[in-house]
Amino acid sequence: MKPKELWSMAKKNKQAIPSFNFSSLDVALTISRIVQNSSYQCLVSTSERELNFQTIEIVVAGIKALQKQGYPVFLNLDHGKIMDTIQKAIQMGFDCIHFDGSSLSFEDNIHITKQIVEQCKPLNISIEGEIGKIGGSSTLQDESTPESILTDPNEAIRFVKETSVDILACSFGSGHGLSKEPEILKTEILDEISKQIEIPFVLHGGSGIVPSEIKKAIDAGVVKINFNTELRIAWHDGMRDYCQLNTQDIVPVNILTAADERVAKVVEDKIMLCLNR
Ligand SMILES: [Zn+2]
Repeated sequence: MKPKELWSMAKKNKQAIPSFNFSSLDVALTISRIVQNSSYQCLVSTSERELNFQTIEIVVAGIKALQKQGYPVFLNLDHGKIMDTIQKAIQMGFDCIHFDGSSLSFEDNIHITKQIVEQCKPLNISIEGEIGKIGGSSTLQDESTPESILTDPNEAIRFVKETSVDILACSFGSGHGLSKEPEILKTEILDEISKQIEIPFVLHGGSGIVPSEIKKAIDAGVVKINFNTELRIAWHDGMRDYCQLNTQDIVPVNILTAADERVAKVVEDKIMLCLNR
């Protein structure tokens, strides 16, 4: 199955495909095992920073090896902004590219997204565009996190018509990271867009959003939900707790196993949310 077929399948079943970020291959393997046990599919994603840390060569080889072993995972570039990285990701066989042109002018965002769409389409790579600005950051520090700018439905409609993206990231009330206040999603923004054009949506900053809001988003046409912060917290806490209890254990396999076990639990929960049962 190709990612584009995933979107239509998810939409038909009123479900969403989870996208989980990873910074090391043990986490990607953990995610892959859980998603396989759940008989579902997911995206494993890296931001440019997470990608540079691991190197694109190792990420691609690692995820291709997982796919070869039958794990139902697709490789996604999350918030791609640097053209060099995007080009490399396309050439090296990423399954999905998210081009984040949200900090560009509206016209430049259309122009560059369109160029990437033209490259991705013949290769069957799913291309996600972004309109509006999804603020926050997937960390616990809240200094200087960018503010969200809600998506203007009219701009979104024009953007989709002109670029022909496969899937659209909108800013409709969620932010990256964990919000102090419960996030209420403004799905009426998605409804406005859907009245004029058929396009599947992406919810960024899925961490911390309560199940009823996730359900509301799926019902409004969201087919991909990104999770990062809660996985980071689980990984960090698992490692911290293990090291506090086992101060003499320096064996990386033991420490990483403890961290990955916590991540697995979060992945399981998020898959259940996305299955929308
Ligand atoms: Zn995001």
